[in-house]
Amino acid sequence: MTIAINTIEPRTDGAKAFLARAAKQILIDGRWRDASGGARFETFDPASGRKLADLAEATAADVDEAVASARKALTGAAWLGLTPSARGKLLWKIADLIDAHVEELAELETLDQGKSYRTGRFGEIPASAEQFRYYAGYCTKILGTTIPTSIAYQPEGKQIFAYTVREPIGVVAAITPWNSPMLMAAMKLAPALAAGCTLVLKPAEETSLTALRLGELMLEAGLPAGVVNIVTGFGETVGAALTAHPDVDKIGFTGSTEVGKLIVKAAAGNLKKLTLELGGKSPAIVMPDADMALAVPGIARGIFSNSGQVCVAGSRVYAHRSICDQLVEGLANSAGKLVLGHGLDEKTDLGPLVNRKQADRVAGFIAEGRSEGAEIASGGAQAGEFGTFFEPTVVTGVRPDMRMMREEIFGPVVAVTPFDDVEEAIAFANDTDYGLAGSVWTQDLSSAHRLAGRIRSGTVWINCHSYFSPELPKGGHKQSGWGYENGAQGLDNYLETKTVCSVI
Ligand code: ADP
Repeated sequence: MTIAINTIEPRTDGAKAFLARAAKQILIDGRWRDASGGARFETFDPASGRKLADLAEATAADVDEAVASARKALTGAAWLGLTPSARGKLLWKIADLIDAHVEELAELETLDQGKSYRTGRFGEIPASAEQFRYYAGYCTKILGTTIPTSIAYQPEGKQIFAYTVREPIGVVAAITPWNSPMLMAAMKLAPALAAGCTLVLKPAEETSLTALRLGELMLEAGLPAGVVNIVTGFGETVGAALTAHPDVDKIGFTGSTEVGKLIVKAAAGNLKKLTLELGGKSPAIVMPDADMALAVPGIARGIFSNSGQVCVAGSRVYAHRSICDQLVEGLANSAGKLVLGHGLDEKTDLGPLVNRKQADRVAGFIAEGRSEGAEIASGGAQAGEFGTFFEPTVVTGVRPDMRMMREEIFGPVVAVTPFDDVEEAIAFANDTDYGLAGSVWTQDLSSAHRLAGRIRSGTVWINCHSYFSPELPKGGHKQSGWGYENGAQGLDNYLETKTVCSVI
């Protein structure tokens, strides 16, 4: 498939100016500077192959400094001295600045990651601002309780007076992936800051640009020096140094289950608290009474959006045998209509995958599946001058034991399998090590909620797939993670409880 790469230049002055600036630096203690060793690495536009910027490659020494800066800021008057209301206003101001720069940030995200401009402009960047607004409101509502006790205190006439205080957990390492870079950073920064923590943010090495621009905007909003530090670099070095660091109290991580397990080991040294949002292999169950006019485009969006590079992507579809052929045909038609191109081209529905390596990986799954008997109903091929694109792909005949049914592909590939009765559908849906999300498609209200109760995952959608909002807890059951982001639980991730108990 040939793909015309028509537009590669950003339109906003902000994005142009940001890209034109010299090498991108790391942020430590409120100052931008080069990495201590002076090393740099490059970041590319995956659609055009163009180099976008040189980034500072942080070292373990930089990580030490970033953590020390966050530790100092945690108890510094500039941060600790802010009233809850002032902290809330600061978060709200960050949200307003994100909105004011929404087009620029969406362009940077598209250039760095590949996603369609629309996805960033109308989805992920405004959603990032909403994270800060949502948690801004919590700053004034972080409350302890007074607790009546039941165990008698012996000395005559004495009583127990006890209460709890919620305190920031401390220095947080936030480590984010490349699929939705800005939003994933916002989902950690906003609740951690609301809780009063300080952070070291390490964005994914493939897509660090929006995190760096967000760092500038946070300083512009008035965030005190050292409250957020940003170190760019590789997972095996910078990420590993952060996760093993003895002075980091908490890790907020989104990424692969494989790296999540490495982080669990690395965090054991000082028993860091962990929130892990890991991989998924989310099922969609389509009942015979589903509204196909809703199900076909909804399921197509649930797997093909962001070229399938979404942790909750509905990559396993189980359709009742009576409507399975119709669904496969509908999905294949939808896939065939999607326009692949440069994300900044307004006609583009699907941009490239994040890089050639990822597209090759997806191609590997397809080749292996084909050799084992899977059939391609639509798509199936790598595309584009640099091989970074992948056609939206519908596959049938994938057996439960095949690797493409068990592992997270992280590309626009959906396997459709027929089922005969609802128990079989539930067994198929739960036949996975993952448990991030799932969806059910039916017009029968009772059946919808019964199915929702039986899918073992952190989120179940009914007649939609991939709806998010900062109010809704998001997390993984089974090997899809530990803990929940968003909502009140998202804030709890960054708070400790202290019980104060006195004799009066
Ligand atoms: P994905 O490829 O799904 O984005 P990864 O789990 O490979 O997920 O990467 C997510 C984030 O974790 C990135 O910022 C990456 O640099 C970081 N990372 C990778 N390996 C490690 C590691 N060993 N320790 C800490 N962080 C890591």
